[in-house]
Amino acid sequence: METERSLREKCGVFGVFGHPEAPLLTREALLALQHRGQESAGITVATGGELRTVKGMGLVPQAVPEGALSPLRGTAAIGHVRYSTTGASELQNAHPLAFLVRETPVAIAHNGNLVNAVRLRRELAEAGALFQTSTDTETIVHELARRLGGPDRDWLTALGEALLRVAGAYALVLLVPGALYAARDPLGIRPLALGRLGPAWLVASESCAFDAVGAAFVREIEPGEIVRLDAGGLQSARLPAPRRALCVFELIYFARPDSQIGGISVHEARKRLGRRLAQAAPAEADVVLGVPDSSLPAALGFAEASGLPFELGLIKNRYVGRTFILPSEGERRAGVRLKLNPVPDVVRGRRVVLVDDSIVRGTTARRLVEALRQAGAAAVHLRVTAPPYRHPCYYGIDTSLAEELVARSGSVEEVRALVGADSLAYLGLEDAIDALGMGDGFCHACFSGQYPVPVGEAGGKRSLETGVVG
Ligand code: SF4
Repeated sequence: METERSLREKCGVFGVFGHPEAPLLTREALLALQHRGQESAGITVATGGELRTVKGMGLVPQAVPEGALSPLRGTAAIGHVRYSTTGASELQNAHPLAFLVRETPVAIAHNGNLVNAVRLRRELAEAGALFQTSTDTETIVHELARRLGGPDRDWLTALGEALLRVAGAYALVLLVPGALYAARDPLGIRPLALGRLGPAWLVASESCAFDAVGAAFVREIEPGEIVRLDAGGLQSARLPAPRRALCVFELIYFARPDSQIGGISVHEARKRLGRRLAQAAPAEADVVLGVPDSSLPAALGFAEASGLPFELGLIKNRYVGRTFILPSEGERRAGVRLKLNPVPDVVRGRRVVLVDDSIVRGTTARRLVEALRQAGAAAVHLRVTAPPYRHPCYYGIDTSLAEELVARSGSVEEVRALVGADSLAYLGLEDAIDALGMGDGFCHACFSGQYPVPVGEAGGKRSLETGVVG
């Protein structure tokens, strides 16, 4: 799971309207979405005519202690787990962000990146807007404020007009007293789902959050759809949505296997990729291993299609912190070593197929191959269920710097030599899309360089602090 250390998800969002336990239910849901961001977490509750926010740095249990929520009574809430991809990792930028928009308290939480935020921010500042954070998300709030002419102005329409100004990826939830809005960008790059729990409505980045609170998955929020949830029920509006471009990497790696995205279970999607990889790049081997956790379904698929036995040959120590937060390469290597350990009895004297979902910098793959050899593997054939990762993502995934992407300049043979495997094969893009069996409505820019939303105006993670684009 190279990605766990080198690609960082930006965020998960959740919202509930019409449930007496909205604050605690939101906290439970955020725990289920924790894999999407570990830097900060927060919850905003609508209580009477006010919005109250609890947020902090770190994982959900530290950032939003249960005790801090118990005094908050309310039937509507939104929540967020964050890994920063725009704006520094600090409490001021942690979501939900709270504002006063024309006398109305507003809280917003966002997953994704806006690619024209630097220009919009400049234009809004020139028109008198005062920014409180260095996140791209705040531009949406200022665009909304400009379109809310008075108390009678319809918020659904105003939000739609504001969203027409922004470009990029967003799955967002916005809370005001008496209503909750949820919106997904016109290409549906980031996922967003709608759920039901009794009379309450829920929205979440992934359906696994619904399972965590005993709710039912109803459907996806469609690309370009904006929903308003209030005491009257659900109202929906649509932005023009030319086509679909769901992030294919959500299926390959980011999402939890027990979620459903784009009409398919993520577990099944990964098995299909593994099966296709076994057909496209078979290996002379005795056993198939997957890199825990995200590559296990793909390894199962590979084993199924190749007729080789699947074994749990790498054990993950769940009590070691995530390795990507370790600052130096040396510490990262030590972290990987502590975190994933081969089972000698499984690999000793056997030719191993190791299935992983990506190779980004190559550090982890090299370490795993080395560890398998030390444990006695007779050969290690590395199989990757995605094409080579060659281009940075501008839509909400914090990739390594372009120059750190090992496949960007290296050939497959060079990467193989670097990681020390006996053989290396990636799944081709066409094969991956075909194996998923969901048509071609995907963003695959990090593999193909074909960006579905032009990224010429996009800045880096700190561009809103520096004003530097590109
Ligand atoms: S560039 Fe890659 S990681 Fe980013 S949204 Fe597209 S498919 Fe997902």
